[in-house]
Amino acid sequence: MSCIFCRIAGGEIPAEIVAKDEQTVAFLDIAPLADGHTVIVPARHVATIEEMDAGEAHALFRAVQRLAGPVRRAVGAAGNTIGINDGAATGQTIPHVHVHIVPRREGDGAGSVHTIFRHGTRRPIAEVGKEIRKALG
Ligand code: 5GP
Ligand code: ZN
Repeated sequence: MSCIFCRIAGGEIPAEIVAKDEQTVAFLDIAPLADGHTVIVPARHVATIEEMDAGEAHALFRAVQRLAGPVRRAVGAAGNTIGINDGAATGQTIPHVHVHIVPRREGDGAGSVHTIFRHGTRRPIAEVGKEIRKALG
C-alpha cells in the first residue's frame, strides 16, 4: 500500500491522530499552516470527491463538522478556513481525499478562499448555470 494517507488510516505509519471512527480519520498536518491544522480523510482510499459514495461523504462532512469547534478552541482561534484541493490541477498533492481545517485569527495575514483566484470569468453566469443543470441531468 503506497498511499501515505491509507497507511496513516491503517495505523502503518505514525501521525498525530485526533479523532477516528469507522469511516474517517483526522490527524494533524505534518507541515501545519497554523497551529491545529488538521486533515480529515475517508478510511477507504478514494482519490477525489467525485469518487466518494454518499455514506462516505456524509461521514466525512459529519467529522469535519464535529471537529471544527474543538480544533478551533484548542488553539484559541477565532474561525477556521476549511477546504479541499480536489484533483491534481488544484494543487492536491496526495491523491486520497482530505479536508483541511486551518484555524484562523484576526490579522493572521492569510486571505479568504477568494484570494486563491486571480482571473475573472469568461462566460455569462446564466449560460454556465444552464450547462451545469444540463450536466446534472
Ligand atoms: P494537499 O496539498 O494534497 O491538499 O495536502 C496534503 C497535505 O498533507 C499537506 O498539507 C501536507 O503537509 C500533508 N502531509 C503530507 N504528508 C504527510 C504525512 O506523512 N503526515 C501528515 N500528518 N501530513 C502529511
Ligand atoms: Zn489512500
